[in-house]
Amino acid sequence: MKKFSTILFANDFSEGSDNAFDYALSLARKFTARLVLIHVINEPVDLRGFYVPHISFENLEKEIADGARKMMDSFCSNHLNNFENFEQSVISGVPADEIVKKADESGADLIVMGTHGRKGMDHLLFGSTAERVVRYAQCPVMTVRLQ
Ligand code: AMP
Repeated sequence: MKKFSTILFANDFSEGSDNAFDYALSLARKFTARLVLIHVINEPVDLRGFYVPHISFENLEKEIADGARKMMDSFCSNHLNNFENFEQSVISGVPADEIVKKADESGADLIVMGTHGRKGMDHLLFGSTAERVVRYAQCPVMTVRLQ
């Protein structure tokens, strides 16, 4: 039987990813797998000091990163009680690229994510992050649709 040993869960704190998380955690429990949770701070190029000096952005970036890490901490303490084999990571960049990269680096053999996230374009079958991850990931991807 196929066994999963490292499951990567892509968390954008949306209803869609919350729903997918139940599947990620159930599979991690079932296979006694390590669960790696990633949140990517979606960093538009224009936030990199194009309009105003770079220095003004340093505090803002730090506050954004601190806020994102706090959200991830509270997500883990609210959702992972009595599951210990997990790692969390908050990274800046393009979400799909960072998710695929993290899956490679952590040796994930499954990625779990929502079909839709915070942008919620319901008429599309997949959101753009989901579509790019399915297209470029080296391992299987489970996409979970909100019912
Ligand atoms: P989207 O394709 O953006 O509609 O989102 C689909 C799924 O991709 C979400 O349900 C999340 O599982 C994941 N996702 C989207 N954006 C991010 C992000 N910034 N960080 C981590 N996961 C994300």
